[in-house]
Parts: sequence; C-alpha cells; structure tokens
Amino acid sequence: MQHETGLGHPECPERSRAIIDRVENSDLQSVLQWRRPDPADRSWLESNHDEGYVRYVEEACLSGRAGLDADTPISHDSYRVAQLAVGAALEAVDAVMMGECDNAFCATRPPGHHAEEAKAMGFCLFNNVAIAARYARRHYKLDRVLIFDWDVHHGNGTQASFYDDPQVFFSSVHQYPFYPGTGAEEERGAGKGRGTTLNFPVSQGTDGKKVREIMSGPLAEAVQQFKPELILLSAGFDAHREDPLGQLFLETEDYGAMTQQLRHLADETCDGRLVSLLEGGYNLKSLAESVEAHLRALTL
Ligand SMILES: [Zn+2]
Repeated sequence: MQHETGLGHPECPERSRAIIDRVENSDLQSVLQWRRPDPADRSWLESNHDEGYVRYVEEACLSGRAGLDADTPISHDSYRVAQLAVGAALEAVDAVMMGECDNAFCATRPPGHHAEEAKAMGFCLFNNVAIAARYARRHYKLDRVLIFDWDVHHGNGTQASFYDDPQVFFSSVHQYPFYPGTGAEEERGAGKGRGTTLNFPVSQGTDGKKVREIMSGPLAEAVQQFKPELILLSAGFDAHREDPLGQLFLETEDYGAMTQQLRHLADETCDGRLVSLLEGGYNLKSLAESVEAHLRALTL
C-alpha cells in the first residue's frame, strides 16, 4: 500500500485494502496461511531485467520522480514495494515447491506482466511472474514452467521474456485488439521457443463461457502436451464485466470456475503446484469478490 500512484489512478493502494478486507472477513480465514514476504534479492530482479534498468527504477523512486512512463507513476517507496512483490512471488514458489502448501496467491502490487527487460509499462515495474519462472527454473532446476495469463490485457513483458525459450511456456487469453497491442494468434514464439507461446485473443464483449471453453479445449491440450512441473498464473481480474478498463464480460463466478479448471490441469500435470500472482483488476468491489472466488476455488 506504500506504492502510491497519485489521485485517481486505477492501480491504487485501495486495491490491496479491498482484497484484504474482503478475505479477512470471510470464512476463508480458517484455511488460509498468510505470509509476509522479504524483499527479493537484487540478483533476482536482474535475472529478468537489465542491471541499469533496475538501478534506474531504484534511483527514480528515491529521488522523488513522479513516474517511469506516462501511465506508470511511482512514489518514494515504490522500489522497495516492488522488491517485496517479487519477494512474495519467490516465497510462494518456495512454499509450493517444498510442499508447505498446495498452492499460493500473491496479493501484491505493483503488477508485473507488462514490464519488459529494460522498460516499465502499464503500471508494472518488475515482471513478478517472469522472475518467479526464472527462479523456479534456476533454484529448483525445473525444465518446464508454464505461465498462464488471464488478465484482460496481453502480458507483453512476460511473452517477450520467454519468446525464444522452449522451457517456459507462455499462454494468454486477452481482449484484442487492445492495450498493449501485442498478443495476436500468429505470435507463437521464435527459434527454439517456436510453439511455446500460445495466444488467445478475444474480441470485446466476450463472456466467461468462451474463456472457459478456451481453457478446457486448446489450453488444456497444450498444458497436457507440455507437461509443466509448475504452473504460474498472471491473475488479473480486469476482464470482469464491471471493470472500468476492460470490455470483456466475465462474472465473479467465472473466476471460481476458471480457477478450478486450472487446478485440474495442475493436478494432472504437476501434482497441483500452482502459484497465482495478482495483476490487474480495477473495480474495487468486483476485484475483491473475484479474488475471493479465486481463493475459494484454490482452497476447495
Ligand atoms: Zn490488465
């Protein structure tokens, strides 16, 4: 909540408050294990980002700069908070890999999936999910990690990180054409990574039924074929009907059903190992409700 983005910005500290309030006041409390992360070591930030860029973000925050680009505002503590968000992702990978819990959700800000190697973008400073994948690969010597991204926006930063990497499969369902402009069906990866990028662009007005069909059809097929050892989810909730930024028509219940589908795929391929990271979601009410539905399905 100390990553301040200024008055009226949709990616606001109140998002965290809304989620925590909702979950703390639900019966989920009895089954959840809360953890407070440590900041990620700089070397992990540098595993996915240019060294100079990491330094630039730190200096920009500490020196009081207002933003990294037109839509990515920062405040004095933003670097530290972003480092904590990455730390949460790594700790979630640890907890799931060590079998301390079945799965994990990181209720973190800032989001990450638009951040590229040397570029902040779309409210994102560091690419939490990409760093988590690199950490799982190196620290746990995994050969195959799969990232699924159901945020309404395409995860351009994550895709770019692994576009030619056959060991990290990236799949996204997102509104298209839409910000950030990438994510066409023809974008399938390059070089040795040809075939391990899989985009499902959908037009505005698409509902949850269609997204669930994609997940049970072509996505399921791809996951079964790739056989990941760990599944990471870029969990944005801005494809909700009530979201002010996206124009898709998902309902709160869809997030519960989609979570069950993904859990099922994780059960089939990787002993249920699933780590979910918050990305977007800008209507505070539908965000909190959808996260609750997501957690309910994760803890069933
Ligand atoms: Zn988004």
